[in-house]
Amino acid sequence: MMLGYLLARAGVDVTVLEKHKDFLRDFRGDTVHPSTLTVLDELGLLEKFLELPHTKIRKASVTLGKNEYTIAEFDRIPAKCQFIALMPQWDFLDFLKQQAEVFPHFRLLMQTEAKDLLARGGRIGGVLARGETDNLDIRAGLTVAADGRHSMLRMKSGLEPTDLGAPFDVLWLRLPFRKGDPVDLVGRLGDRQFLVMLYRGDYWQCAYGIEKGGFDKIRAEGLSAFRARLKEVAGFAADRIDETIKDFDQVKLLTVTVNRLKRWARPGLLCIGDAAHAMSPIGGVGINLAIQDAVATANILGPILQKGVPRFSDLKKVQARREFPTRLIQGFQVLAQNAVLGPILKSNRGPQPPLFVRVLDRWPWARQWPARLIGIGPRPEHIQLRAK
Ligand SMILES: Cc1cc2nc3c(=O)[nH]c(=O)nc-3n(C[C@H](O)[C@H](O)[C@H](O)COP(=O)(O)OP(=O)(O)OC[C@H]3O[C@@H](n4cnc5c(N)ncnc54)[C@H](O)[C@@H]3O)c2cc1C
Repeated sequence: MMLGYLLARAGVDVTVLEKHKDFLRDFRGDTVHPSTLTVLDELGLLEKFLELPHTKIRKASVTLGKNEYTIAEFDRIPAKCQFIALMPQWDFLDFLKQQAEVFPHFRLLMQTEAKDLLARGGRIGGVLARGETDNLDIRAGLTVAADGRHSMLRMKSGLEPTDLGAPFDVLWLRLPFRKGDPVDLVGRLGDRQFLVMLYRGDYWQCAYGIEKGGFDKIRAEGLSAFRARLKEVAGFAADRIDETIKDFDQVKLLTVTVNRLKRWARPGLLCIGDAAHAMSPIGGVGINLAIQDAVATANILGPILQKGVPRFSDLKKVQARREFPTRLIQGFQVLAQNAVLGPILKSNRGPQPPLFVRVLDRWPWARQWPARLIGIGPRPEHIQLRAK
């Protein structure tokens, strides 16, 4: 959507396909980081964006037992917005859609699923899609696979990701919000479990971390055992678990995948976002990294698309630009999941605060560095492609 916006704004004809009829799915994550807010500011959209309902995270903490440790603070980072805006992704996508639809070169086809790639003269020349009623042949000088971690277009292209592994999965469930609850991001580490709670106005969206493949065992142990475990780690929200969680149908398994393509492009086709590099939820960076890819793609390929069709060598420049930040952030995610979350999910000894958590908690000045890493990231992108 962001790439569609940027190209259409620059006068390039764009068709964006979305297989669902709306954006209303609750498993997309909610974090809009300073890097994305900077991009919105450069586009003159920041004020309008911040008028939408959202909350602001200015620091990140984790709770172990009764102790809270602050591990990141955004007030020293070099950005106009020194916070993460928490906004459900469907609101963000609806916002981008409304902004993009004012451009005559932008076309969005909802409920239209890309099913296959079309070949033309030895290169990829568009997609075959299934619309609400008909099949569509959509011809394009450039096809961008931005269709997420289960990318159909990537699969059809023969490009294969390398799996970097993830020792945990996430159970996604909702708990009611009550007066007096903190209006913040909550992270709690417990004995063989962890819980992250995202405030969404009238309810908490909860991500409950379990050992990879552990959901069958949890189901087999039954609902009351599950509720009891959840209560151990839920802190202030433990009081509403029994009355809320009545069925395993309320608990959705989200499998965590971290992977990366060796080559992001084929002639006529470019993969970006999770299609090129599926991100772990750690740090809530995935949406923001996908936006950075979109900005880099527009900067590199926009001027070429204004005149014609990019060559394969042009497409490779996007990977050359974005691979380093992707590797670095994924490296941090893999380290965090293998050194911190994995051991917590295996250990019966009760979680101990890792050394870096204790250091960050004691040394406020240092907390800007994790905030810079996840909030801005290495090699931040800025809007260069001009509006037409
Ligand atoms: C449990 C979990 C929690 C997460 N939480 C966060 C978080 O809080 N913050 C964060 O920044 N990141 C989070 N992430 C990572 C984040 O969700 C992804 O990195 C990010 O959404 C990638 O964006 P994308 O645009 O590449 O792909 P997606 O967001 O997956 O978007 C792909 C879009 O393409 C559509 N689509 C798919 N196939 C087709 C097709 N064939 N034809 C047409 N349309 C198609 C899909 O419906 C979807 O709308 C989380 C990940 C997980 C697993």
